[in-house]
Amino acid sequence: MMTSSSGIRVRYPPSPTGWCHVGTARMAIINFLFARRNNGTVIFRSEDTDKERGTLAFEQDIIECLRWLKLDWDKFYRQSERLDIYRKSLRALIDTGKAYISEEESKKEPGKLIRVVRLRNPGSKITFTDLIRGDITFDTGELGDFVIARSTDDPLYHFAVVVDDDDMGITHVIRGDDHISNTPRQILIQEALGYKRPEYAHYPLLLGGDRSKLSKRTGDVAVKSYRESGYLPEALLNYISILGWTPKSQREIMSLQEMTAEFDIKDLHKSGAVFDMEKLRWFNRQYLHSMPAETFAKNALNVLESAIHESGVKWNESVGESILNLVRERIHVWEDIRVLVANGEFNFFFTDPVLVTSEIPEKKSNVSEAVRHLTQSQTIISSIPDDSFNEPDKIKTALWDCATEAGHGAVLWPLRYSLTGRKQSPDPFLVASIIGKDATLRRIAAAIEQLRTP
Ligand code: GLU
Repeated sequence: MMTSSSGIRVRYPPSPTGWCHVGTARMAIINFLFARRNNGTVIFRSEDTDKERGTLAFEQDIIECLRWLKLDWDKFYRQSERLDIYRKSLRALIDTGKAYISEEESKKEPGKLIRVVRLRNPGSKITFTDLIRGDITFDTGELGDFVIARSTDDPLYHFAVVVDDDDMGITHVIRGDDHISNTPRQILIQEALGYKRPEYAHYPLLLGGDRSKLSKRTGDVAVKSYRESGYLPEALLNYISILGWTPKSQREIMSLQEMTAEFDIKDLHKSGAVFDMEKLRWFNRQYLHSMPAETFAKNALNVLESAIHESGVKWNESVGESILNLVRERIHVWEDIRVLVANGEFNFFFTDPVLVTSEIPEKKSNVSEAVRHLTQSQTIISSIPDDSFNEPDKIKTALWDCATEAGHGAVLWPLRYSLTGRKQSPDPFLVASIIGKDATLRRIAAAIEQLRTP
């Protein structure tokens, strides 16, 4: 935790009514970057007063997901534990005549009388300066004397937010622009209570692929689902951060520290950014590529082993280790390993392939030619010394003259087919070196046998 000396105080005020959303993470990131850049304090305030929808499980999920992204905060509050504070302020407003109790028929239960509290609205024009959007003016006359509490014991959301922001010394309210229309109400309550007005900054919300509001309908929005599919927290954090923010350096790949050092709220965009899954995958790939080899190996081997087991193939750790570079080349996220294995893209490293003639490339139907070339390859490969076999280049050199003479394709497709059972695969020299000389010769023999049998 940094020392706070600037006096700047911001808040993460999520309502725990659902799983931590990409939008919740973005709200926290922007507040975090702003506060830490300015040596300020961050307050986590769980706005858990919605008794019907709020749950502790959602609150826990939000906390865990933000921690997973390596975001932190200095103080934690729950609105449900602060009801006495709201009641006192409400009482003060009623006592000074700035708010009044009004007996009305309940909208929920017609015929029932309830005693709500309404703010005596002076109906003035309110202008506030938004750090992102500039001056915004509202005519508050239209709001009338709006309700601020369902009863003297049960203050509404706007009221609690205003009391908390003042009590917690919030200097900057930085939130999505879906809250702009709440701001005039909140300012009126502040003024009635005699509070200082904080600075406001409303950033545009993220959009889904079709440019509508980002929601479940437009793609996955729960941070935990990215976590579960094996996205790296650094990549997700980095991608969400630069969505709608272009740092002056124009860099894209940045650590949390680098972003904090460069953050300027004025560089947030004024229009909504699209949350693009493909771009997120690209970010994740950059992080997978720069991951230290050991860390990559540990994680990739775990996923690979379980995927290989699931596909009913026997696991071999040293084969797994020798295909790590191939794995790294082919994936964007850990989950891709499972998809590749399910598609049979790595299985042949661990077990002899089942040869099916449909995998023979079209226009290569001259099977007797293929058998002839395979037999030649078999002879050449048998003569490669065992201690050269772990170097794909040596295998390539040994086969190259024969392949050049007969045509590379003519020699190499049957070799690839026999080693992998597939039309496409990593180059056959590499495959041969990884599976070893015995397996290579055994597979070639099996392919010759299969191709000869009509
Ligand atoms: N609890 C509100 C929400 O989750 C945020 C309130 C605010 O930013 O003032 O949307």
